[in-house]
Parts: sequence; structure tokens; C-alpha cells
Amino acid sequence: MSIELDLRLAGEGTRFRIFPQPRFLKKADGSGPLFPEPEVVVVNVEPSAMRPGPGDDRMFVVDAVGKLPYKDFFRPPWRGQARPPVRPGPDGHFDHLDPATRDFSAATMYATVRRVLDIWEDYFGRTIQWHFESDFDRLELIPLIEWDNAQSGYGFLEFGFGRTPKKTIDHSRPYCENFDVLAHELGHSIIFAEVGVPASPLDPAIDYGGMHESAGDLVAIVASLHFHSLVDYLLDSTRGNLLTINGLDRVGELSDSSEIRTVFNNQRMSEVGTEPHDRSLPLTGAIFDTMVEVFQQDLVAKKLISEELRERSTHLPGSAIDLKEIEAEFTAAYTGNEAAFKESLLVARDYLGRLLAITWSNLSPDFLTYHGILRALLRADRELTGGANAAIIRSCFAWREIAPVPTSLLVRNHTVASCGLDAAAYHPAAPADPAIDPQQIPAPRPERGNFISPRMI
Ligand SMILES: [Zn+2]
Repeated sequence: MSIELDLRLAGEGTRFRIFPQPRFLKKADGSGPLFPEPEVVVVNVEPSAMRPGPGDDRMFVVDAVGKLPYKDFFRPPWRGQARPPVRPGPDGHFDHLDPATRDFSAATMYATVRRVLDIWEDYFGRTIQWHFESDFDRLELIPLIEWDNAQSGYGFLEFGFGRTPKKTIDHSRPYCENFDVLAHELGHSIIFAEVGVPASPLDPAIDYGGMHESAGDLVAIVASLHFHSLVDYLLDSTRGNLLTINGLDRVGELSDSSEIRTVFNNQRMSEVGTEPHDRSLPLTGAIFDTMVEVFQQDLVAKKLISEELRERSTHLPGSAIDLKEIEAEFTAAYTGNEAAFKESLLVARDYLGRLLAITWSNLSPDFLTYHGILRALLRADRELTGGANAAIIRSCFAWREIAPVPTSLLVRNHTVASCGLDAAAYHPAAPADPAIDPQQIPAPRPERGNFISPRMI
């Protein structure tokens, strides 16, 4: 969500409180939770438009009693018993709820999903219509069932709890309070709604699967970067050096967060397989790196860091001494300029949000490749900036080894002869040279295999 809209909502929307990261994430010294206090968020629904649940015209919470997880022949809506809906305080807001209560958990689930939807609808510039709209008008949110798992499905999200080491239900870890997990699941819904699904049974959809997981993580991280406490922590612990390559150690205690671990990865295509989560890593990394490079470009433009420091931090340093020097220079640049660094990061965040919204709006799900996503991103950047960040996008994707597959028709050479445009073709009366006689030139092989991803061969 843009900085401007967030400011406007503060006066018009409905207030909730949610934890930016799970309460079980602890400080490194064990002195307490990393984010001990919930942060106020404002959803894009006026208090007068809120419905019981909490709910609104897009989604609602139903705190089901005695419910088993949905399965193939057991689908929404939930028609069984439910606890009473959570009510707002006398002022119409929900920020009065005690974090120790079940009502707080239920309200958190609504506020998280609604907030992430608000953020992404703002980047899309329009309403994201549910992919299940032919059956349901609203998303059903079930916050706390007795289950050591969570799932998103057609028309619903239902969440249980984490597991203890003994593989029993860990009631101290309700998934519905985990912002990253909820945002990731909503990310899948956004991709179903905006990109769709492959139509052909011949489509192996390997890159499509990786893109889905990557999109879930990117939806979550961009949404997470709307928490002031998380942005401040990220910048303070890295001193503004957000470069992802080997950067996980710099994000400190936040590296215990699954979403942060995912975006600060250093995987390339040659290091991953076809399993969707594994395959998502280079794509997520390339796209997150793009945001970081745009952020650093802005720091250079504002003369907060030098172009030379940016160059050095972007390219892999040669030794540990380099890393120490870079760290010291970033610390010097960041100290006293914290607000300006934060402003640059939020601008880069909003650029990435809009870039992804345009990209996903224009992406075909059929025979999708990462190279196709790269080109869609370049087109989106031309639409947004006139192509100002094309070089950044190209180099981030090149580092991750995302390129056309070797058998792609895109990389096939066309010679004058193979195109039938040689001299003999233009001057049939000229003395025939069998070497270039168009009749003698073998027709280009159909190379049907090239139309099919090499993974199928
Ligand atoms: Zn997922």
C-alpha cells in the first residue's frame, strides 16, 4: 500500500492490533519476544461497515466448534456450531482486545488477511475478485481448529496450531496469528485470481509451481514491510545494507522468521530442483534483490551512500576484510540518516508492489517459464518508469541464472540462407551454386521439441 493511502486510512478505517512476527520468536539473548507488542493496523473498512465475526463484504471469521478439517467432500460453508462473533469496542474499533484471549486470535486472522488484501488491491489499483466467486461471495476464515496444520482452499482458510517436538498440538503457536503464513496463503489466492491456472494437461507447470510459492513469499514480505517496527528493526540490524547475497547473517534475530529466511536466500537455478518451494528460491531472490538494488540506487541519488560503495556491496566481496569495511561504511552512512534510509526503502517497496501487480496482471499461466516472468517484469518496468530499472532487473536475474532455456526457439539463430533470403533466392537467374541453391537448402527442422519445455523430454 502506498504511503499516502496508509495515511488517509488512518482517519477512516477500522483499527486492530496484530503482531508483526509470531510471539514465539525470541531475542537472541533469550530476554523475551522479538516483537513483544502488537502494532496497530487500520483496515480499509469503515467501522460502520464492519459485520459480526469480525467480517465485511469480502471475508468473515467463523470460530467453528468441534470442526474437522475440510476435505474433498466436506467443503464450506461451515454449517455447524460456532462461538459468538467478536464484537468491536464502543468506538467501533477492535484494538481493545486483550492479546491473551481467543477473541484476539480470531480478530487477528481477519485483520491480517484484510490488511494484506488492502495492500495488494492498492498496488493493483482495483478490486481483486476471488477465484471462487462463482460459488461464494466471501472468503471464510476459520481461526482455531484442533489440528496441527493449516490449509487454504476453495473459498476458505482454516488454521490450527504448530507442533511440539513430540508431534502433539502446540497451542502456544496458533497459525492464525502468524502474519507471514496468512499473507503467504492469501498470496496463492491472489495468483489464482490474477494469473489463473494452466489449461493444458500437457503443461508440466514446473515454473508455474515455483512462481506460485515465490508469489506467496513476495506477497508476504511486501506486506510485512508495512509494519514500522519490522522495517525499523530490519534497517537498524543491517545498518541499511540489505544486500541479500550471503546477507542472512546480517538480519540478526529476524533470520528466525521463515519469510525473511526465504527472501534472503542465495540460490541459483543450477542449485535447485523441480519441487515448487525449492524452485521458488532463485525467483524470489531475483525479485527481492531488484527491490534492494532500487533502494540502494535511491540512496546514491540522495548522496547517502557513494556509487562506489553500492558497486562494492552489490558485487561479491573478495574477502572478509571487504565485508567488514562495507559494514563500517554502511554504519557511518546510516547513523543520523535513519529516516531517509527508511523513506527510500518504503519507496522501493511500493515500486516492487506495483511492478509485481502489473506483472501478474499480464502473465499467462500456460507453459509459463521464469524467463517469461523476467520479460513481463521488464515490460511492467517500462510501464512504470519508462524502463529506468531494466538494467537492475536484468542483472539480478542473470545472477540467479534465469534465462531462456537452451532449447528455446528464442535463442535459435536465423541465417540468411535458412530464411531463404540469400542471393540465389533474390536472383534466380544467377548461376546456380548448389551450396546456396534454395532447393538444396534443407528446410529448417520443425524442432517440435522446442515448443515443449525440456523438462518433458
Ligand atoms: Zn505456499
